[in-house]
Amino acid sequence: TLLPALPDVRDPFVPPGPAPTLAALEAREISAWFGDRLVLDRVSLEMPAGRITALIGPSGCGKSTFLRILNRMHEMIPSAKLAGEVLLDGEDVYAVDRKLTDARRNIGMVFQKPNPFPAMSIADNVLAGLRLTGTRADREQREHLVESCLTRAGLWNEVRDRLDAPGGGLSGGQQQRLCIARSLAIKPKVLLMDEPCSALDPTSTRVIEETMIELAREVTIVIVTHNMQQAARVSDQCAFFLASHGTPGVIIEHGDTRAMFESPQDERTSNYVNGRF
Ligand code: ADP
Ligand code: MG
Repeated sequence: TLLPALPDVRDPFVPPGPAPTLAALEAREISAWFGDRLVLDRVSLEMPAGRITALIGPSGCGKSTFLRILNRMHEMIPSAKLAGEVLLDGEDVYAVDRKLTDARRNIGMVFQKPNPFPAMSIADNVLAGLRLTGTRADREQREHLVESCLTRAGLWNEVRDRLDAPGGGLSGGQQQRLCIARSLAIKPKVLLMDEPCSALDPTSTRVIEETMIELAREVTIVIVTHNMQQAARVSDQCAFFLASHGTPGVIIEHGDTRAMFESPQDERTSNYVNGRF
């Protein structure tokens, strides 16, 4: 069946806001293996500064693997191997003299299942990353950071009166926004989101989508989503991944979101975005 028309595709020509601090991410010829099995085959993609890039495609085509490669989480999997380059504003994320923590600090990640520290207070959840990165902040700076990150994650008004309550007591959608706030606290240049709304109800999903669109003013966002309406609503550009009949994942087509949905160049893209899969 055809999806209904997608009227609220973001206007690709509206600039996303202040540009100077925004960073672009670029993947060049990324191949990935688990053991001897090739799961991504020379995938290249530019993720422009301050834009939202959506990675779409069926399960198992390597979207999560690609995302993990972008912030060096892939290399934590013992059997994982990798070829290719990841450039953050032209600088090699994998350069030998670059610390792993640099990559993690610059490129944050939010997962499908919200994973705040459940027993830790809401405020301490936001601040948790500072400890990991060894950033010092006095009480006033910490309070300011908590408010600023929760505000940008769209959660401040809902939790300002109970910052000492445990993060685990929030609803799923609130927990996911808390995780976004926690990522923002270490001032990432890029935010990777792996199906961030798949475990959430439609209302929470819309709130997160609005948060994402706001955040794209300050960070570059890459989101994996199975929700085509969501890809159409939030993303500026899309990349369609496919791994057919045991072949490794490749990008079949990528480009401006509106163009991908309205006039896909490849029949397989057309089938996928229109739900004929
Ligand atoms: P997607 O996110 O698009 O569903 P994934 O990146 O999770 O795809 O997986 C791509 C392929 O890599 C799949 O065939 C999957 O089974 C395999 N894979 C993913 N993670 C691992 C792992 N840790 N060890 C071995 N194989 C894996
Ligand atoms: Mg995945």
